[in-house]
Amino acid sequence: MLNAIFPGSFDPATFGHLDIIERAASIFDELVVVVADNPNKSCLFSSGERKAMLVELVRPWPNVSVVVWGNLIVEYMKGRNIRILVRGVRGVNDFSYEFELSMMNKALSPRIETIFMTTDPRYFVLRSSAIKELASFHGDVSAMVPPLVAEALEKKYRRD
Ligand code: ADP
Repeated sequence: MLNAIFPGSFDPATFGHLDIIERAASIFDELVVVVADNPNKSCLFSSGERKAMLVELVRPWPNVSVVVWGNLIVEYMKGRNIRILVRGVRGVNDFSYEFELSMMNKALSPRIETIFMTTDPRYFVLRSSAIKELASFHGDVSAMVPPLVAEALEKKYRRD
């Protein structure tokens, strides 16, 4: 069995994330989407909300599951004997950050292999932070996130 994880904040999930999930799910036997619950990062959506949205969004792929994890990613992988970590890269800026992260993970656990998947050209501008900013100004995010995420953003930023 070739199992992999796809970790991230997913605050919130975008079509860019889903594209990586779909492609990784077609390569690996099992893919676990790991929602990072990191108290040092302030997120718009709680880890429970982010997980609940992803659970709905990954329904089309039976070999994909979603978990919340509040510790080091390498510890999750060691505990489940998973060696492959998938990350998406949109461009050189992402790559330099992702490269350092992969070096750090390798130092923590040499068995871990990071696989980089390049973004689909349709999604290379999609970034959760920019989408949240756009949604906060009530801009149209329907081309960037699935309808359930667009609705959740709308609710968060609803004018009182
Ligand atoms: P993190 O805070 O861990 O970077 P993100 O939710 O921002 O979490 O991203 C999770 C992963 O998805 C990262 O590897 C990121 O590079 C990748 N990713 C995010 N948006 C896109 C996109 N539009 N295309 C491809 N990969 C993406």
